[in-house]
Amino acid sequence: MERRPLSARWLPLSRHVRSARSWIILGVLAPIGMLVLSAIMLLELRQDAWDKAEQTSKNLLQVIERDIARNVEIIDLSLQGVVDNLKVPGLAGASPSLRRIALFDRAATARDMGVMLVIDENGDSIIDANADTPRRLNNADRDYFQAHKTQAGLGLHISRPLISRLLGEPVIVLSRRIDKPDGSFGGVVLASLKLSYFSSLFARIGLGREGGITLYLRDGTRVMRYPFVASDIGANITGAPTFQNFVAKREGSFKGISVRDGVERYYTFTQVGDWPLVLNVALGTREIEAEWRETAAVIGLAVLVLCGSTVLLSLLFGRELRRSAAMQAELARLAQTDVLTGLPNRRHFETVFAQAWGTSRRTGAPLALILIDADHFKRYNDRYGHAVGDAVLRGLADSLSASVRRPGDLVARVGGEEFAVLLPRTDHDGAMRVSETIHRAIAGFAMPSVGIGPGTVTVSLGLAVDSGSGTAEDLYRRADAALYEAKAGGRNQTRSAA
Ligand code: GH3
Ligand code: MG
Ligand code: MG
Repeated sequence: MERRPLSARWLPLSRHVRSARSWIILGVLAPIGMLVLSAIMLLELRQDAWDKAEQTSKNLLQVIERDIARNVEIIDLSLQGVVDNLKVPGLAGASPSLRRIALFDRAATARDMGVMLVIDENGDSIIDANADTPRRLNNADRDYFQAHKTQAGLGLHISRPLISRLLGEPVIVLSRRIDKPDGSFGGVVLASLKLSYFSSLFARIGLGREGGITLYLRDGTRVMRYPFVASDIGANITGAPTFQNFVAKREGSFKGISVRDGVERYYTFTQVGDWPLVLNVALGTREIEAEWRETAAVIGLAVLVLCGSTVLLSLLFGRELRRSAAMQAELARLAQTDVLTGLPNRRHFETVFAQAWGTSRRTGAPLALILIDADHFKRYNDRYGHAVGDAVLRGLADSLSASVRRPGDLVARVGGEEFAVLLPRTDHDGAMRVSETIHRAIAGFAMPSVGIGPGTVTVSLGLAVDSGSGTAEDLYRRADAALYEAKAGGRNQTRSAA
């Protein structure tokens, strides 16, 4: 491969740097890149916020669920203990205080425990964990009593929230059926758990303004909600779409709109142990994204401002580059143009002449050159003044321009009242025809205002044709010599070089 010098290899890059289009493309691409990158970054930050929320919810849920499951299990073990111990022979005959000691363990005295009672098949209290003489009441109307009475083998029953008759405060009742030796219904042993247990358990946890923790029975009854609102307790939301999610699986998470207050929340839920209880932790989606939203607003604004200014600056820079390029082009054009006639000047002629010569050399096509000199031009200046002389020169230029047709032809002003016509791929006959056209065109030039009539202005032409055999200078010299001959031969005529 040909090794170009370093400067030549760098040329394309420097051209890009100078190109207005490159800057405008860069000014658009760079901001697009910036926007895409920041969008990706912001989306990732948002994902982080959600991951954090999910993790927090899961951790909380697990801690609370374990606490509740353990307590329910302890209470249930106590209840099972009572059911089993009631069968011990001789217990019926023992003293009330001995019976209490035999039946109830220390669970009955736990802080959040309400009462622990054995009630008979009629619903009357017969043994009380807290008193030798049981406090009198009849609970035959309670749901759990009816449930155990009608269904054997129900196991542990967890009631809806209710107001305890003995304590006068809200509780849920955990109960088991007592079977008589023949298997028929013999009553119920129950333990009530104060709802304050749940409220104090939940209250320790901060979940934001819109967050909440809720415990439901599987039938859709709300047992406790934090933050606590009295009317929430005992409400049933079985039909709500959110609740359908809670019971569809053992545990999971989803985004949903609360039927309670219409707020969109992210719910993480789980069944509590093997009990018919569903616990959920809910975080307001708005709050999950709140911090991110602030960051996104700041970053987004900064990026937009940066991108905006980049675009603006590149557009301005591109416009300046374009302006200066246009100015340079105009300067270059002016440097090649004759001010008086608007024709290409001598310098431009020389460049084009050299190129045309090269082409002619390569292709072997003939190249014709006609040199034109105004006859006795000094006289116009002397008689009519310089301004009229200039006007005549412009007239000559127009006549010459009108005399050539092909795109490759060139008419230039190469001296004061001297012009050159370059005719590529034109042989002697063709050039002679152009010469005749020139004479005719100039013969038609007139300036009636100053008394210059048609045919007054004449020119002498020297013509030479070559096909790249000698040098460009030879061709020019021969055309010049022919012009001299035309002058010497009486002017207003064309002479061809030998
Ligand atoms: P000939 O060529 O026929 O021998 O006679 P001539 O009078 O044209 O002779 P010469 O070439 O010596 O004179 C050229 C004159 O053209 C000199 C000058 O007065 C005039 N001239 C040259 N350039 C300009 C120009 O830009 N404007 C005007 N008005 N006159 C010019
Ligand atoms: Mg002259
Ligand atoms: Mg002259």
